[in-house]
Amino acid sequence: MIRSLAAARPSGDGAGMIDQLRDLEDLKSAAAALQARIAVAFDAEQRSDQSRAGVPADQLGAGIAAQIALARRESPPRGSRLLGLAKALVTEMPRTLAALETGQLNEWRATLLVKETACLSAADRRAVDEELASDAGTFSSAGDRAVVAAARAAAYRRDPRSVTERASHAAAERHVSLRPAPDTMCYLTALLPVAEGVAVHAALTRQADTLRSAGDPRSRGQLMADALVERITGTPGGISGIEIQLIMTDRTLLQGDSEPARLPGYGIVPSGWARNLIKGPGTDDTEFHTFLRRLYTAPGTGDLVAMESRARLFPPGLRRFIQARDNSCRTPFCDAPIRHLDHILPWRTGGTTNQINGAGLCEACNHTKEAPGWSAHPRPGPRHSLELTTPTGHSYHSTAPPLPGAPYPETAAFRHRREPRHLAKSLMRGRPRGAAAAA
Ligand SMILES: [Zn+2]
Repeated sequence: MIRSLAAARPSGDGAGMIDQLRDLEDLKSAAAALQARIAVAFDAEQRSDQSRAGVPADQLGAGIAAQIALARRESPPRGSRLLGLAKALVTEMPRTLAALETGQLNEWRATLLVKETACLSAADRRAVDEELASDAGTFSSAGDRAVVAAARAAAYRRDPRSVTERASHAAAERHVSLRPAPDTMCYLTALLPVAEGVAVHAALTRQADTLRSAGDPRSRGQLMADALVERITGTPGGISGIEIQLIMTDRTLLQGDSEPARLPGYGIVPSGWARNLIKGPGTDDTEFHTFLRRLYTAPGTGDLVAMESRARLFPPGLRRFIQARDNSCRTPFCDAPIRHLDHILPWRTGGTTNQINGAGLCEACNHTKEAPGWSAHPRPGPRHSLELTTPTGHSYHSTAPPLPGAPYPETAAFRHRREPRHLAKSLMRGRPRGAAAAA
């Protein structure tokens, strides 16, 4: 089916092409519905396998969503959400599932209906599904907002108390996140209960207004942002006692080369910006302590060289090494930050503590890897590689991301660049005052 689709081309006149677009949309919805049925059947099959293998009842289900994520090329958290969506559709919302199967709802709108009814009991959810009757054409010309409004109204009518319960559930979702913005800026975002969010904003506003009335020339927005950094890090300028790592080639550091650098926790930054950060901010009295640590990469492949240790725990130098090499969780499609350094072959089965047998994993993936039927092995590759095998025997390959200056993608154009490449990693610790930055 996929092959005949890949061979298909736009056909017919304008009206024919519109029909083609509509048919493909129906096909995508029907495929999503079938994926939901498959996910639920797979979950049941894996659970019965696990219980036959003697897995305790409270641990049943471990690693199932992670396998669905790998098969769908999604991150582990998204795999969990997709499995939750599938279970809701198949077991509690048959009419929504039918609407998805027939193309009357697409996967996103079916997801919205599931989300808006998530706080209801199974019985209430079934009643709302029945009331909305989405397979009877209720949403034939409805957009996302109309779908949400209808679902919300039906849910509130069934169970007004769920509104407050939903609010307490929402508070459990509070978190802080960081994502890149253009021009080497970033968004630091906090999702907070409204009272706390308003309190934080009011405190920053108050500080900004005090400084403004004392004649500070900075804008209100700038003062609020500076106050936020200062209060959270405890230091004017904000980088004291906190280590910032910056990975770049020696040519970028010393010869003004334009190869970009990598700031772990943020991503790729321009070379000039990286050099300026090492030189220090210059405008206030914060001084950086700068340490250079040389990382050597293999010519042509960009893989890092090895370090050995007999210890079970990864020593600090090796931890830094693996964190610099892996950048984020090594499970395919998972971009979560590294929380654990994992022995790829477990230490208890003779796995050694070295860079080849070490990998950075997020907390969830580290947990999944311990579930029955999962295994991992280091594999040869141009850069550090490992293979992850799931309980069904499917294998997934993970290669460490390219370091600055490393060939990526692996193309002929890069393969003949064989000159040795040295990477310089600088560690900077900010200090409120004191000696000049040393490199
Ligand atoms: Zn992960």
